[in-house]
Amino acid sequence: MPIRVLPEQVASAIAAGEVVERPASVVKELIENALDAGATRIEIRVEGGGHGLIEVADNGSGILAAEVPLAVARFATSKLDSVEDLEAIDTLGFRGEALASMGAVARLEIQTRAAAESVGARLEVEGGRTLVHEPVGAPAGTMVRVRDLFYNVPARRKFLKTEATERRWITEVVSRYALAYPQVQFQLHHESKLHMGTTGRGDPLEALTAVYGVEVARALLPIREEGAGPLRIRGFVSPPDVHRSNRRQLTFFVNGRWIHDPSLAAAVRQAYHGLLMVGRHPMAILQLELPAQDVDVNVHPTKAEVRFRDPGRVFAVLQRAVRATLLGQTTPPRVRYAPADRPAGDGEQGRIGLDWAAAASVRGVEPAGLHPAPGRPGAAAGGLPLLRVVGQVSASYVVAEGPDGIYLVDQHAAHERILFERLMHAHQTERIESQALLEPQTVEFPPAQASLLESQLEILQKLGFQLEHFGGRAFRVRAVPELLRDLSPEQALRSVVEDFEEDETPLAEELEARVAARVCKRAAVKAGQVLSLQEQERLLMDLEACAAPRTCPHGRPTMIHLPVEALERQFGRRG
Ligand code: ADP
Ligand code: MG
Repeated sequence: MPIRVLPEQVASAIAAGEVVERPASVVKELIENALDAGATRIEIRVEGGGHGLIEVADNGSGILAAEVPLAVARFATSKLDSVEDLEAIDTLGFRGEALASMGAVARLEIQTRAAAESVGARLEVEGGRTLVHEPVGAPAGTMVRVRDLFYNVPARRKFLKTEATERRWITEVVSRYALAYPQVQFQLHHESKLHMGTTGRGDPLEALTAVYGVEVARALLPIREEGAGPLRIRGFVSPPDVHRSNRRQLTFFVNGRWIHDPSLAAAVRQAYHGLLMVGRHPMAILQLELPAQDVDVNVHPTKAEVRFRDPGRVFAVLQRAVRATLLGQTTPPRVRYAPADRPAGDGEQGRIGLDWAAAASVRGVEPAGLHPAPGRPGAAAGGLPLLRVVGQVSASYVVAEGPDGIYLVDQHAAHERILFERLMHAHQTERIESQALLEPQTVEFPPAQASLLESQLEILQKLGFQLEHFGGRAFRVRAVPELLRDLSPEQALRSVVEDFEEDETPLAEELEARVAARVCKRAAVKAGQVLSLQEQERLLMDLEACAAPRTCPHGRPTMIHLPVEALERQFGRRG
């Protein structure tokens, strides 16, 4: 075929395909237009999962009757003047492509009236051609209807998912915007039935409830005010015990724009490290505000990606804000009490029998409040109530009483958590202790493991191993972390090298934490080990002092809580 310039209609269908990928992208663009127009009420009606009809009506500024034909022209926008404007975009739209794209691949109808005008305008566009342009009586604001999406692009129509799937995507888009703009009233109707609605009263919690339901909305933790310079972060994250099976529940808005950014998602996931059960994912709705010139939004026609001027800083600030929120979480106010029969003082009696050498290896560098005086006022750091030991079950679980019911504590998981926090603290303050071997030992590893090990020598050193590459697949070990002194050097190394295999390119910090977690797993008291009452008490006191006492470093729960009400219900004392 000879080279030739594509006819306008083909060219615009191709371009339109970039902006409008599916019904949900139509909804997104129309919502963004309404928000740009200052709407306080946005009503969305969908039929047939958006394949049939998408209608978005707003009470925003409306379009001047004379300008309506321009609104559907390609690269026609009221939001941008010059190239300089591109550097600091403060509207959601700016490319002037959305309406034109819809007009190219669907039957588009616009009805609008600017507040200052008495008569509105109606426009119909099909396949890029304007069919109708007439005056009309209409309420102030804009209503856009998109019918038969991709009716003239069979290749694209084929790829539309089932109505149910497209409906889900649309609901997701509307929900996210409803969360980010609680001051705007959103209503989403599927087949004339109200599917989701917010009041627009400006209460973020109310919007969260509309989207996620009361229970989740109540559980979510507001980000503690993070005002690091010009970058501000607001929003909510799930506590470690509220999680989802998929990764899609991380929502980011940057300067009011919904964006997808793998590095922001990674920052949040990293903040949950060691707190979440393996294979489970957190929920978050986070709004980042930063000066418009620090972020480039003109990356892709869907405007769903951005580039930060300083991505490293954004990552770090976000990660810290979320982590601080998670660790600072406090449980709802509870009656606090200190049982009288609690061991007095911080004596050594709790150490008898149990191998507390592990803890001793980092003695003197324990986090503040690790051995709090019993009966101290206020909540334990991680929000655990004071617990009274009742006894041990199956040589594996410690049963305890709290002010609000029974706690079953997994002794191994709890001890892992305690050791982990001590080790990480010692690590951060660079006071990890090693146990020198009487004689250096040489350990050989299979090729793949050896090269992994070689690349991670530095991390191992930080965690208390002293070893060097001894050529080929051999390593010479001179010291192991005090915590692992009971294992042979070979066992000790093997127990951590498995972690390197899990993930080839983990972040250094995450890897350190993971290796530390594994070290603690090896060192922690095992299930099946009988503990004296004092040892059990010691365990719970140390657990209370942890920053994140409710999960082990691998994310499994350390305890199960049976509230008094649950017991009463079980015994039929309560309805
Ligand atoms: P962009 O949003 O990038 O400017 P669009 O194709 O989405 O491009 O819209 C083109 C123009 O039409 C906008 O710049 C705006 O002036 C006008 N417009 C579109 N939707 C609305 C609306 N809901 N209310 C008021 N004006 C609108
Ligand atoms: Mg737009």
